[in-house]
Amino acid sequence: MAIATVKNEASEHYSKDTGHTENLSSAEEEKSTGVKRKATGVEFVRRSKRERKKAQKMPFGLQPPSQAEEKAIAQALENSKKLQRLNSDIAVDTAPVFYPTLEEFENPIAYINKLREEASADQSGICKIVPPKEWDPPHAKLNSFTPPDRSEKTFITKKQFLHRLEEGIYFPEGKRYTIKEYEKMANDFTQAHLSAMNAAGRLGQSSGKEEGDEANDRKSDVKNNGEKIEELSATPEELIKEYWRIVEKCEDKVAVEYGNDLDVIEYGSGFPVRKDLKDTRESYEDPDSNHKEIKFKRNVSLKDGGGPDYYESCGWNLNNLPHWPGSLLRNIRGNYNGINVPWLYMGMLFSTFAWHNEDNYLYSINYHHYGAPKVWYGVPGDAASKFEECIEKMKAQRVREEKDVLQKLVLMTGPATLTAANVPLVKCIQNPGEFVVTFPKAFHGGFSLGFNCGEAVNFALPDWIPFGRDASETYRKSQRAPSISNERLLMQVARNPVDLDNIESCDILIKDLEKTMEDQRRLQKELSQNGITNIVGMPGDEDSEEYDEKRQCHVCMHMCYISALVCSCDAERVVCLRHWQNLCNCSPDQKCHLYWYSLHDIEDLILRVRMHRKKLM
Ligand SMILES: [Zn+2]
Ligand SMILES: [Zn+2]
Repeated sequence: MAIATVKNEASEHYSKDTGHTENLSSAEEEKSTGVKRKATGVEFVRRSKRERKKAQKMPFGLQPPSQAEEKAIAQALENSKKLQRLNSDIAVDTAPVFYPTLEEFENPIAYINKLREEASADQSGICKIVPPKEWDPPHAKLNSFTPPDRSEKTFITKKQFLHRLEEGIYFPEGKRYTIKEYEKMANDFTQAHLSAMNAAGRLGQSSGKEEGDEANDRKSDVKNNGEKIEELSATPEELIKEYWRIVEKCEDKVAVEYGNDLDVIEYGSGFPVRKDLKDTRESYEDPDSNHKEIKFKRNVSLKDGGGPDYYESCGWNLNNLPHWPGSLLRNIRGNYNGINVPWLYMGMLFSTFAWHNEDNYLYSINYHHYGAPKVWYGVPGDAASKFEECIEKMKAQRVREEKDVLQKLVLMTGPATLTAANVPLVKCIQNPGEFVVTFPKAFHGGFSLGFNCGEAVNFALPDWIPFGRDASETYRKSQRAPSISNERLLMQVARNPVDLDNIESCDILIKDLEKTMEDQRRLQKELSQNGITNIVGMPGDEDSEEYDEKRQCHVCMHMCYISALVCSCDAERVVCLRHWQNLCNCSPDQKCHLYWYSLHDIEDLILRVRMHRKKLM
């Protein structure tokens, strides 16, 4: 009886006619891009009170598919399914799992660095970290991080059509929920779906028990207002199989709603936030205030429960990790959503985080606050191009050529397709209280097995530096604006190299800065050889994020932190030195080479790092 009601309520998630005839109107799509993402590219993502209210542009030239296109896609999908002979049961290696001791757990940055150096954890792309048993943060209960004034706060979801995830199309917004409403909807959906699975004989297939008893085994009595109702359950394996059946076979049309990328400054973090961090974040929102630096101790111990302030001050609190000693990201000034300010994620059964790697190829860390497990797949960073090739081939079979589906975070495809293309892949199941770390450039994606809540943020260790350069070059080739300027970050690290605590790290940064200097030297020579001799040094106060938009290269979207070229014909149009020929057709004497940092300045910074290196010897 109870299940029947549930089914009714959740029926919109199964609407028969949503399938291939559902066109996303431009307005809907525009609305659905309203959530400030870190990966949108052309949007200037630094968050401030003013910007938050600003109207959003469409991040990409997204167009809803036409009806003819829809038909063609459906046919192509049909054909490719037949060709692929998918096997969703394919075995995938398990990602490494680590269990830090209390001592090791004192410093997350040092520990993750150790996993890379001593256990080659980066070779898997992702890994799981299970905290010591003493770890018991206060956030886990819903009420503790939705204080009274926030319990009525609502968030907008993204609707995900599971059977269309392999097409890489953009999805519209779902409904608006409070956390409690979302939880109810999610739990109702789980029961309705399990009941459908049960009716179709897809529950209890893999447990190896006697036929007949299965359905009964999966039912448990739950008391609800004194009335007994039956609740079904499934194993993670059954749900994983069911997920790929829906995504890959496209026989059933299933829609779920995902509450992703919720700003913790607005919605509240799952972790307690220290007063000085709150103050610093507020100071970033106010251009006139002085930014206070946040200081964290390198090691914070959980011994004897860690003391009353432990969870506010420890590095595994994801609000703190980007600012931890040794994380290069603490050299960024400003609140960058999802990068140095965590995002919250409210998930339900099958809600999907599509394949992607992090902005600027940064590290990421994800914590599971509470609820049903989350399934992760990861591809090592050095197999990223192989992964992208596979996706390109897949797209070719899908007719509709959607550009940058990975960047737009809308495409999901399973182990069968990737393994068939020899893409190395690992899998992991993240339970409440566990962390998942993703390494630089490593593609990852996955889905939830029921209602849950997670939180994630980025960080950077010195070994990330070459990846940052790689990302910057890749973005310039595809005209994608970076979320953070690689040059600004690295030059800031060089000014104050305290986070480089060994010689190897110093050498990595020196090498990178030397490349930057060589690049500048070569381009400046090219400019002067071509008659561009007007050179103007820019004042230091221009070294501020407020100016970033004004000095974005018109051609490659690079943030011209060191130098740029302008012409008297259009003061708004700026290009990087690489694209000096693409500025305009005016004569060289109309043009002006602006610089914020001279070769000499860069040389000074390199010297600074060399001196720091000497002290470490
Ligand atoms: Zn450029
Ligand atoms: Zn001109």
